[in-house]
Amino acid sequence: MPSIGGPELVFVLVIVLIVFGAGKLPTVFGQLGKGVRTFRDESEKKDVAPLASTATGTTATAAASKYCSSCGKPNADGAKFCASCGTPLAA
Ligand SMILES: [Zn+2]
Repeated sequence: MPSIGGPELVFVLVIVLIVFGAGKLPTVFGQLGKGVRTFRDESEKKDVAPLASTATGTTATAAASKYCSSCGKPNADGAKFCASCGTPLAA
């Protein structure tokens, strides 16, 4: 995307004046501003909704249901051997 500096901005303004005419310029910019305002309102509404939904569901409780019979340390559900001492865990 080319950077728009001072000379380019004046050039664009001149083209706008030719196309729309100096008399219509206030209404053109008025509608442009109205459009930007409604766009911002819509984007703000969309930004609020996802934030509320992502707050819940992140706290996953790690259920260590298998306790080693040898050392007594908790192991992940489905583990076949103790992570601490290597003793085979009861199913
Ligand atoms: Zn163990």
